[in-house]
Amino acid sequence: MLDKYDRDINYLRVSITDRCNLHCTYCRPKEGISLKGHDDILRYEEIIRIVSQAVKMGLVKVRLTGGEPLVRRGFAEFAAALKQTQGLQDISLTTNGILLDQYAEDIFKAGITRINISLDSLDKDKYFQITRGGHLDDVFRGIAAAEKAGFSPIKINAVVIKGFNDDEVLDFAQLALKKPFQIRFIEIMPVSSVNANQPEDFMPTNQLFDRICKHFKLEPLAGKKNKTDGPAKIYKVKGGPGEIGFINPVSDHFCSTCNRLRLTADGKLRACLLKDEEIDLRAALSRHCNDDELAALIQQAILLKPEKHDLDCTDRHLKKCHRDMSDIGG
Ligand code: SAM
Repeated sequence: MLDKYDRDINYLRVSITDRCNLHCTYCRPKEGISLKGHDDILRYEEIIRIVSQAVKMGLVKVRLTGGEPLVRRGFAEFAAALKQTQGLQDISLTTNGILLDQYAEDIFKAGITRINISLDSLDKDKYFQITRGGHLDDVFRGIAAAEKAGFSPIKINAVVIKGFNDDEVLDFAQLALKKPFQIRFIEIMPVSSVNANQPEDFMPTNQLFDRICKHFKLEPLAGKKNKTDGPAKIYKVKGGPGEIGFINPVSDHFCSTCNRLRLTADGKLRACLLKDEEIDLRAALSRHCNDDELAALIQQAILLKPEKHDLDCTDRHLKKCHRDMSDIGG
């Protein structure tokens, strides 16, 4: 599936719910979001139909996200059914880990073996604060359950907020020294109303890299300057089993290699996280569209993909998109 700029679009992020059991300050507005009703979101069968059609067109990889995917009932059964899609090579999951203790084994048995767990602080109080009520112990129990179930790799994603958690980078690096996790630092993006125009929150990851290098030896992987793993620049931590990655959507965007589309919980296909144009697949499915019509709509979404987003760390007076991250699916 080639877009207008010759990028091969073969990766779909699917938000299966807009609901979440956490309310991270940078992701959801304080007053909450107006949640969609059951009838307003895609049924699991509809998601599977869309994915199957996209796979026929060249999709190979799906990541399930939300909201928090594990709060939607029947997740493991859905994952197992999705796994049966002929030609789909990879399904992974992004979760906050709170419910993983309960579900890790079932999800692994369903055939999902790669997992990203979001964890922005290793300090209980700070974790509670940033998530507006989350308990760090639950996440650690979830991570342990994921290890026990056999997930590999386990990636830990930390969104960096200047003055809040950037002082924890060495603690995170220490975790990669002890455990075979890939710890990834992600630059905060000014998505929608929640954190647009707050330049004081932003810290480019190259500053974290410099700090970590003062205390740890980071070795570029595979003898290259760095190995790219999706958009992450990944390094091995010398002396430990883990890796550290940096994801720089703002300071060093990776739009030229972006291969993804996003499907929102309410069935809109979105070509770029930071652009509002969407194609309404749920409406088409409700009209009982045939496969050719569905394929044409997917193709239309791909052609909407812009050459690049317009975030810029030097100019934070940004065009915001209308939907919040928790609404689009991170
Ligand atoms: N609930 C799941 C989780 O916590 O991983 C999946 C959904 S969450 C929206 C996916 C990821 O998006 C999380 O790692 C979260 O930290 C990240 N995220 C949310 N808002 C962001 C922002 N403004 N900038 C960068 N990352 C963001």
